[in-house]
Amino acid sequence: MKKLKMKIQGMTCKGCEGHIVEALEKIGAINVKASFHNGEAIFELPKDTDVELSKIAINNIKYQAGMIEEVSFNKNDSDDKIYDLIIIGSGAAAFSAAIKAIEYGATVAIVERGEVGGTCVNVGCIPSKTLLRAGEINQAAKSNPFIGLKTNAQKVDLATLVKQKDELVNELRSQKYINLIDEYGIDLVKGEARFINKTTIEVNDNRYIAKNYLIATGASSYIPKIHGLEFVDYLTSTTLLDLKETPRRLTVIGSGYIGLELGQLFHNLGSKVTIIQRGKQLLKDYDPEISDTVEKSLIEQGIELIKGVAYERIEQIGDIKKVYITVDGKNEIIESEQLLIATGRKPNTDTLNLSAADVNVGESNEIIIDDYGRTSNNKIYAAGDVTLGPQFVYVAAYEGGIVADNAIGGLNKKIDLSTVPAVTFTNPAIATVGLTEKEAKNIGYEVKTSVINLNLVPRAIVNRETTGIFKLVADTRTHRILGAHIVSENAGDVIYAALLAVKHGLTIENLIDSLAPYLTMAEGLKLAALAFDKDVSKLSCCAG
Ligand SMILES: Cc1cc2nc3c(=O)[nH]c(=O)nc-3n(C[C@H](O)[C@H](O)[C@H](O)COP(=O)(O)OP(=O)(O)OC[C@H]3O[C@@H](n4cnc5c(N)ncnc54)[C@H](O)[C@@H]3O)c2cc1C
Repeated sequence: MKKLKMKIQGMTCKGCEGHIVEALEKIGAINVKASFHNGEAIFELPKDTDVELSKIAINNIKYQAGMIEEVSFNKNDSDDKIYDLIIIGSGAAAFSAAIKAIEYGATVAIVERGEVGGTCVNVGCIPSKTLLRAGEINQAAKSNPFIGLKTNAQKVDLATLVKQKDELVNELRSQKYINLIDEYGIDLVKGEARFINKTTIEVNDNRYIAKNYLIATGASSYIPKIHGLEFVDYLTSTTLLDLKETPRRLTVIGSGYIGLELGQLFHNLGSKVTIIQRGKQLLKDYDPEISDTVEKSLIEQGIELIKGVAYERIEQIGDIKKVYITVDGKNEIIESEQLLIATGRKPNTDTLNLSAADVNVGESNEIIIDDYGRTSNNKIYAAGDVTLGPQFVYVAAYEGGIVADNAIGGLNKKIDLSTVPAVTFTNPAIATVGLTEKEAKNIGYEVKTSVINLNLVPRAIVNRETTGIFKLVADTRTHRILGAHIVSENAGDVIYAALLAVKHGLTIENLIDSLAPYLTMAEGLKLAALAFDKDVSKLSCCAG
């Protein structure tokens, strides 16, 4: 069955409610509740019955049927069922928790106010990475480093690329999320959840009760306060990925991983891109070698980067967006057809009414959790982006799993985020794991570091793309690898080996003693390990 809510005009009394119930039951609806006060009816229809039939049934008896929305697939609201776990949100954290909880034998409902699947599949990882790949291919066609290859790129048909991207998103959303709902017997409630008290939530005027809750409501684009911005048609990462035409010029405010990836994407598709940021150092949390290398590569590619900016105001004249900035005391105006705001993400907590459930939030309204994923109410857990931890889908999924282990499995598992790999899918990509040199020193390690440029890595040499770097940070005393930081093609793939080294306490010697396949970018890790004590430019082939 599908559960529907239809707006209806013309009902004035209890008698009208009866007519509506009768008309809808005639077309096979069950559990019909009509309310003349609310001007609506809520009812269930068999899945294969065309929703339009219900509108016709109402219009035929001289009431006016309005908007219809689906409020839940499964029936669970008005009965007295108490769930073991209700999860608010349906992204990676939610599904990971739901599946594990069901494997423990729990009854689980997921509440979702938007698209099932959350950020990653719908508006994040999947749509951005498939378009990034298209951009890379276009860029390689425009300029490749091999003098014998004559390639060129045609005008980009962005509308078709976006359509193809949407098809992929729909397919993966079904495969990885929607189909699993029935597969695992999860109840899906469509609508926005808010807490009524510590054990009850309300969704579309229906109340649901659970013994445990997981808040996995994710985050959305943070829009900074810049004078005039509210009157400008700016884009967020979500709306940018749906553009049908490549803008001639694109300004990107913000240079975190989303700003860099999407800025480079549109550069590759043919826009003139300017990325602006307040800070003086690009990627300020990274060691300076990494920031400098990324900056060099952006500039080599023709992307303009303006740092140390103070925003005066923003205005739109016609289609042109004008960003008025001051840099080093000088006034500048950056004009473009499109403006992307990529200044971070804010947790989705505004509508949850968390105070009713005694759930505490932090300064940015993120949900505060302890090492076990519990909030200040020990029956309510939170996981993923809503806690403002590392904003990656694998972190969200991992935390969701831990919550199921603790809330349902009765375990006392701690969340361990000591080795989280981070990848920015630019070209060259930026990948890091473990401690930076600065962090290691701040903690009190005596560190030694090894830095090699990509012009010492055979894979980069044969690719003819040598802007990049490998940096290893090790403990001087034990030689354990504490951190690895890479700017190279495929750095995101290489970092997994480095993650194993950092997580499992491998030493410089362990890396040196392991065979590295020639010609792979991962060989850079072994070369960087060798470079602690050797001049690797003097080696023969094969990092030997
Ligand atoms: C452009 C972009 C690219 C990205 N690329 C990558 C990448 O390549 N790799 C990577 O690891 N990560 C990437 N991320 C980050 C990743 O998408 C997120 O970290 C991850 O999806 C967070 O999952 P989550 O389960 O915490 O929340 P989400 O997936 O955001 O799910 C939260 C859900 O809760 C729903 N919701 C919110 N409030 C309510 C409410 N009151 N009632 C009911 N439902 C509610 C929302 O509608 C949403 O569907 C990217 C993000 C963006 C924006």
